[in-house]
Amino acid sequence: MIKEITITVLPEDEKNKAFLETACFKELKKNGISADRNDTVFVFVKKSIDARHGQLKLHLRYKAYIGETPADARTSELPVWKKADGSRKIIIIGAGPAGLFGALTLLEYGITPIIIERGDETSGRRKDIAKISTAGIVNPDSNYCFGEGGAGTFSDGKLYTRSNKRGNITRILQIFTKFGANPDILTDAHPHIGTEKLPTVINAMKEFIIEMGGEFHFHTKCIGFLLDGTKKVTGITAKNVITGEQSEFKADSVILATGHSASDIYTLIAGICPEALEAKTFAIGVRVEHPRKLIDSIQYHGKTEGMSAAEYRLTTQAEGRGVYSFCMCPG
Ligand SMILES: Cc1cc2nc3c(=O)[nH]c(=O)nc-3n(C[C@H](O)[C@H](O)[C@H](O)COP(=O)(O)OP(=O)(O)OC[C@H]3O[C@@H](n4cnc5c(N)ncnc54)[C@H](O)[C@@H]3O)c2cc1C
Repeated sequence: MIKEITITVLPEDEKNKAFLETACFKELKKNGISADRNDTVFVFVKKSIDARHGQLKLHLRYKAYIGETPADARTSELPVWKKADGSRKIIIIGAGPAGLFGALTLLEYGITPIIIERGDETSGRRKDIAKISTAGIVNPDSNYCFGEGGAGTFSDGKLYTRSNKRGNITRILQIFTKFGANPDILTDAHPHIGTEKLPTVINAMKEFIIEMGGEFHFHTKCIGFLLDGTKKVTGITAKNVITGEQSEFKADSVILATGHSASDIYTLIAGICPEALEAKTFAIGVRVEHPRKLIDSIQYHGKTEGMSAAEYRLTTQAEGRGVYSFCMCPG
């Protein structure tokens, strides 16, 4: 039997293994489960800090494996990928998160992903981004938004979400861990990969996709779609943004994973199939900076000793609109 439990402890008890184990058994008992000490394993799942009501507490979530062998927390949800043999091909436009995870999903079915990306690989992109601040030069195809890894590649890669019921989050975290992210993301309440690490993780994903039969075409911008007589998309026309050379790529289907900054794609679609476009709402963000000391003292009620940098999250309504903190960098 596997049972998920949460125990609430004081910060000073966090490292006391015997205390935590006893608390876990007590919690099982409260749930009407009497477990044998020799036949039960508790696997730590997540920690969250509760600083409400002036008393600091930790909520520790565990999975209790009673008479069962614990699943490997690093690999239990990983998909099985199949080497693509080239018999089925799908073009993915864009090597951002949607494109990369799209490619990994196709490989679960042994379908060859052909990834078309207008921007550069992370190494070259890094130089293009530096030129923006040092020389004021913006490369329209390789910049903060465009290039290997997509829009957030040079941010710190926060992985938390409020959409907890829309998909298997553990699986995504395990995939990131497989490609080199710190396994702490599997248990952190607010996991993030880290600015210095994210490009390495993205590179490892690319190498794996290539090893499994996928293709990457960088500096290659989709500039049109190939359609058959019934307006079914059968491929794309593309331009090498360095040489200007044009080429065609053919496939069984095309996945658009171009993100929200690629306005030229909307223009393209509006030209051939305007009914496929529809307006959607979007959120606008501002950056708010506070000294760490201030947030720590508010959240921990002055008892900051030994505590990691405090976090906060806010949601409210203002004049009928939802306002919320999207993400937060503790400290
Ligand atoms: C600075 C910054 C920090 C962020 N930090 C975080 C964070 O910490 N956590 C988080 O969850 N989200 C973060 N985000 C948001 C996140 O990056 C986006 O939600 C995410 O990148 C969207 O993924 P996507 O694959 O749909 O599109 P994108 O990441 O935009 O990728 C689209 C890709 O398509 C390529 N492309 C576009 N047009 C063409 C074309 N015609 N031909 C070929 N290729 C094309 C682009 O070059 C790009 O690489 C951040 C965004 C930014 C800008």
